[in-house]
Parts: sequence; structure tokens; C-alpha cells
Amino acid sequence: MSISPFLAYIRGLPETPSVIEINIRSGPNSSYGLLFKAPVGTANLPVMDVKTDDKGANFQGKAYNWVLLQFPNGQSGWARDDLLEVSGDGTRFGYGMVFVRTFAFALQRQPVVPPVVPAAPPAPAPSVAPQSAAPVPTAPPAPVAPVGVVTPPPAPPASPFTVLPSAPVAPVAPAVPVAPVAPVPPAPAPTPGVPQGAPTAIIKTQGAANTRTGPGSSFNRTGITLPRHGRYPLLEVQREATGQQYRWFKLNQNGQFLWIREDLVTHEGDTTALGLPSDLYPSPMKENYWWVRGWNIAPTKDASLPDHDGWDQGAATGEPMYGGPKGGLVVKSFQCVKCTADRPSTLMNGYSLGDPSIYTDPGWGNGYGNYIIVRYTHDQLPASTRDLLASRGFPGGHIFVMYAHLHTRLVETGAQLAPGQQISTCGNTGNSEATHLHLEIRASRSADFTGWATIRSGVMDPVALFRR
Ligand SMILES: [Zn+2]
Repeated sequence: MSISPFLAYIRGLPETPSVIEINIRSGPNSSYGLLFKAPVGTANLPVMDVKTDDKGANFQGKAYNWVLLQFPNGQSGWARDDLLEVSGDGTRFGYGMVFVRTFAFALQRQPVVPPVVPAAPPAPAPSVAPQSAAPVPTAPPAPVAPVGVVTPPPAPPASPFTVLPSAPVAPVAPAVPVAPVAPVPPAPAPTPGVPQGAPTAIIKTQGAANTRTGPGSSFNRTGITLPRHGRYPLLEVQREATGQQYRWFKLNQNGQFLWIREDLVTHEGDTTALGLPSDLYPSPMKENYWWVRGWNIAPTKDASLPDHDGWDQGAATGEPMYGGPKGGLVVKSFQCVKCTADRPSTLMNGYSLGDPSIYTDPGWGNGYGNYIIVRYTHDQLPASTRDLLASRGFPGGHIFVMYAHLHTRLVETGAQLAPGQQISTCGNTGNSEATHLHLEIRASRSADFTGWATIRSGVMDPVALFRR
């Protein structure tokens, strides 16, 4: 029987096509020296060795493996397995036979017992039995990428393991307005028969949500719309192949399968097996908000939509808003002096939406109106968020959260928050078109708050910390 060699393919970060090369290092951890860079798309690289990350780096508890690759020019070096696909006979590295090119990080690697070298004669059977545990996929590998499981990568800095183009400084667009909103429709009764703790999707659109026959906007609409607050068993999660590369959720509605884009729903229950963290913070307004607008920043930006460096969630004026479940420190609580009770927004005061003069005017809170910034230190963050921070170049980092356009602030600068404490109510202050929360997060290695603008480089999709 002929043995197919174990070969690697550099996949890079499929959800971040702007990453066109990866770092090749001198050892099995990102702390080792950079030897050279290798282009995404390079195929048929013989695998010479595989080692578990020797500093214990992992994603959500699954250790990274590093793969020693032989390059055509004679060089060799180590690449992390979430940037690779592999195929062939990986038995000697603990993978078993991999018949179809497969995302390397998704493979389970068995410990390889060092062969016992007999004195003589050679043992008739190898001491390492063929591995049977490696999955044998029959389809292209499922998109269970450890990078980007939580969120499409935002603007750099991203993974320290990849080479990104130099960071474009995103225009500061702190307060993109929301569309006018209609009254909140009543919530339908929960769907019976969904077991407690099972992965469940809950519709968070303002009205009914459209669904499709497959995981992407290229699939046909089903014609079935799902009502706000409707609850459905969440069966599967897939990343869209093109466009903004949202994830799509496969739902079961009375036995019929439907797909819906991730930003139109929130989720509950143990979703870990689906590749979604189960430990994220709840949305600040609990139940009574609706989804308005998501993250839209290069490189995953939809060019047809304006830049948006956070989330907008609509709600009724005065809807209570709560801090995180493990407490936090209010590093800034700001009262907008130009936001009056009868005319809280710039729009109501004769400005056009997004007038640049608003952003430089502290009288309008630089567009944010009344706002609160809360620091959540590393120990207060979900484990999945801490892992994500490490992979984005913020090991041990902290997260600062901006809650903007508030109606009433209930906490002042310096306040230590009790877990889940109410901090404010939802409003329409500053550069805003309708009552909504603009939710924005920025990571920082330092726990000291030195100003919102100074931690701009840590801006991330809020999905790194919050359930939608
Ligand atoms: Zn916004």
C-alpha cells in the first residue's frame, strides 16, 4: 500500500482575506523568532514535525499545535495549526489518515508514544498503532476556525501570528445614527418543547425576521418570517463563504429547517459545541431591545454601508441598562451639556447627522451624548474573551466599554459596580436619530484609563464580550 505523504496547505485566515502571508517561526510558540513569511495559498508543504505549543497557548482550552514545514527553497520553520490545512498520512504525528484536506486545528491529535527502538531485530509491528480517532471528513472542512470563532477580526492589531497590512486608521465615527423606530410589537409566547439549557436562538429584530434556505445571503428566502422574541432550537452554525462573512444559524421551526443571519438573533444555552461561546456577558438591556446595526469596519466591512465601530441596539426611551455580571469600574460618566430634555440630539438642534463639528465638540460628548465608560478587568471577563484577547495581541488585557446616547446616567465616575447593577437608561442624546444604545468596546493591556481616544487601537466587535 502506498503511503501518501503528510502535506500542509497555508490557509491563512479565510475570514480575513487581507491577510496574505503568515509568520514562520523558529519554534512552537509565537515567542520564537520570525524566520520569514510564507504566502497564503502555498500548497504541498511536507510536514516534518508537529509539537503542542510549548507555552500552553490555546483557544478555548484546545491547545494549538505547531507544524514544522519544509519549504521548496530548502528553508523550514514552524507555523501554527489554525493557519493550516493538512492531508495525507499523519499517523506518525498523531493525526491518523487525513483523506481530505482538513483544517488542522479542527483535528484531534493523539499523543504519539515515542517508538521503542529494539536492539535487533526490528519489531514486526510498529509500536504506534494507526490512529483511528482522527476525523475522516467527506466534505470540505467545517468552518470551525479558532480565529474568528467569536467575531470576524476587527481592524489590527489582530493575531500576533499573522502579518496584517499596516493598520488603516478607521475614521472616528462614534455615533452613527439609527433609523427611526416604531413601537415595539408584543412578544409571542415562548415555543414549548425546547429543553432547558439546549442551544436556543431568540429573534431580536424589531419586527419579523427573514430566513433563508441556506447559510448565506445567496440562498433563496424561504418566505417564512420569524416573530420578535420567538425561540427556536439552534442546530448548527456556519460561516458565510462570501460577503461580510457573518455566521448563519440553522434553526428548527416545527420540524422545518431555516437559516438566519447571526445578528438578527441572540442565543442561550450551551452553545460551545456549535463553536459559539456560552459564557459571554448578557446584552446590556436584557430582553427589551432590538437589533439595529452591527460592526462594519475593514477588513470585513460591507462597502455599501457606513463604517460602524460598535453595535446599535434600539429600545424604548428609559429602558434600563445594566453593567456586567462580575462588576466593573466606572472610569468615566459624562453629562452632555448641550443635550437638553426637550431637544437631546444634535438632529433636533439643526445639525445634520454626522456633522463633523459634532465629533470635536465636548458639549455634545463628541457625538456620544450622555455616556458611561466602564472598565472590566481581565479577571472579570469571560474565559472566551480572555482567550480572544490573547490571540489578538492583548494577553492579560482588559476591556473598556462605552455605553452611549444615554437618557439618564445612574452612576458617576469612580463608582465600583456591583454585579449586574443598573447604570443608566436608554436615550437619544448626541448624534442620534432615535432612542438607542451605541455599544462599543476597546481592549487595552493597561488597566489604567488614559482616555477613550488613546485606546482606539483596541477597538473590537462587541461580540468579543457580549451576546447579541
Ligand atoms: Zn452606533
